[in-house]
Amino acid sequence: MRRLAEIPPTAGLPPRLSDLFASKGDLPRALSAELGTGGALVTCSGTAALMLALRVARQRQPRRDTVIVPAFTCPLVAIAVHALGLRLRITDLACDSLDIDLDSLRAQLDDRVLAVVPTHLGGRVTDVAAVKCLVADSGIAVIEDAAQSLGATINGRSIGLAGDIGFFSLAAGKGLSTYEGGVVIARDPAWLDAMRELQDALPRKSAFEFRRCIELIGYTLFYRPLPMRWVYGLPLHRALERGDPVGAIGDRFPMDVPLHRMGGWRQGVGARAARRLPTFLDERRACALPRIDRLRAIPGVHVHGDRDGERGVWPTLFVRLDSERRRDTVLDRLWMAGLGVSRMFIHALPDYAELRDIVPRQHCPNATSLAARSFTISNSPWLGDEDFEAVCRVIESA
Ligand SMILES: *Cc1c(COP(=O)(O)O)cnc(C)c1O
Repeated sequence: MRRLAEIPPTAGLPPRLSDLFASKGDLPRALSAELGTGGALVTCSGTAALMLALRVARQRQPRRDTVIVPAFTCPLVAIAVHALGLRLRITDLACDSLDIDLDSLRAQLDDRVLAVVPTHLGGRVTDVAAVKCLVADSGIAVIEDAAQSLGATINGRSIGLAGDIGFFSLAAGKGLSTYEGGVVIARDPAWLDAMRELQDALPRKSAFEFRRCIELIGYTLFYRPLPMRWVYGLPLHRALERGDPVGAIGDRFPMDVPLHRMGGWRQGVGARAARRLPTFLDERRACALPRIDRLRAIPGVHVHGDRDGERGVWPTLFVRLDSERRRDTVLDRLWMAGLGVSRMFIHALPDYAELRDIVPRQHCPNATSLAARSFTISNSPWLGDEDFEAVCRVIESA
């Protein structure tokens, strides 16, 4: 039976129409209060936030020009490095892990390396302390990519503060959203000031900002189970039917990155929605934990969770199976079922045809294998217990 509703692939904070009638709110202040950071800077995207971070790192280390990122991450990260004219190196993940493989990282560290970007994927917390240990006193900046993990903490503190700089994404579907947007924080206030200075030089009035306002209104109207069938479900079906999984999950991006400042109205909308975020994250956590237990009871199923001291957030449940064949069987049955089952990234970075010109051809077997054996289950409040149980039964029978 065809369902009418379409569950979004991640648990974005449900927008409210009343958010749109916000007067100017102070989004940086709302976020830094919520995150418990000294300050925060709002940018026009997570990608733009990463670019600011890299530019400030470069101001301090002008002779270094190489950025190391994990092989399993968002293609926009590679595009950001490329857009700045920096060199990209990738490092494999540890086996069956979302953490960077430390041996692979160690082997790549030299005096060209400007920054390492440990990445908190899918709400999980990555081990930044281990990366910091490796680069200690070398002048290499540690930039935490927390695009997918706004609200996660380690030992009671927001992620993004263990390294030098941390950034979050406010893109559609990523927790709190202003349709496009980003937030950047820094351990040392001087780094934040340096980023603010670069950001203040960006244009305020831009054609992009106007477009983003319209898109945010659209998002507020359509980010609901029924309209999601039209705005998300149908394009997804079309892409999968023409055999284009990269297009299906929206993993294909233009090479030039819009850079401007986020306008006051969108910041106000974000600040108003941000008030609901802590409660929402707690509710999502309470929903996720028993579901993880249910999944973990299925033989051959692994779900990434928190380790000691980590308190991640739960936009999705990131599931890894024992074989690619089984994963593909699950997706054949569920990807188009409207039940919020999807994938985080289709490939490891070196395996994207569209990134061939900007990503070095490095062999990253662990990342490639993780991409081939994993999928995500939405932790959206709209995925009810019965539907979740239906997903579990498909996984069991695959
Ligand atoms: C989405 C994402 C980004 C980029 O953020 P945007 O706000 O979409 O520019 C960077 N890194 C990761 C891991 C992401 O998922």
